[in-house]
Amino acid sequence: MYVITLKHFNTIVQHCLDYLPYEAGGFLGGRENVILGIFPLNNFTGFEGKEKFEVASYMSASVYEYFAKNKIRVIGFYHSHPDRGLPIPSRQDIFTSQVMPDINLNMIVSINKLFDVNVALFETVNAKPVKHAIKVVKDSTIDQYLV
Ligand SMILES: [Zn+2]
Repeated sequence: MYVITLKHFNTIVQHCLDYLPYEAGGFLGGRENVILGIFPLNNFTGFEGKEKFEVASYMSASVYEYFAKNKIRVIGFYHSHPDRGLPIPSRQDIFTSQVMPDINLNMIVSINKLFDVNVALFETVNAKPVKHAIKVVKDSTIDQYLV
């Protein structure tokens, strides 16, 4: 199970809604299973059909700098699947997770035609997606989840 604050969760969902009909994405930062920071990207155009070096271009130094300043590290990536039903990782998502271990954890925000939002978290283990539960908590209680 991974824990995220309501504020970060809302920011992610809003970012994905704002970018419709395009895909949105950004980094998840934290410690262990606790998401403590997010880094939305303005220039993310989706992973579909991207090669390793293109994916690597998203791993800008500013992400690491920003997270390090806040004493957290990159633990994953979120991105939207506009106009799709269930939040299931694509083959490309699994490929990306494998070639970029830093973003092995994938939060997928699926948004269908009715603007229903469905969020799921996957980790790629031996080329297979393993689903993790997401617990959304009040901003003031997140510290309780830090070991
Ligand atoms: Zn995807």
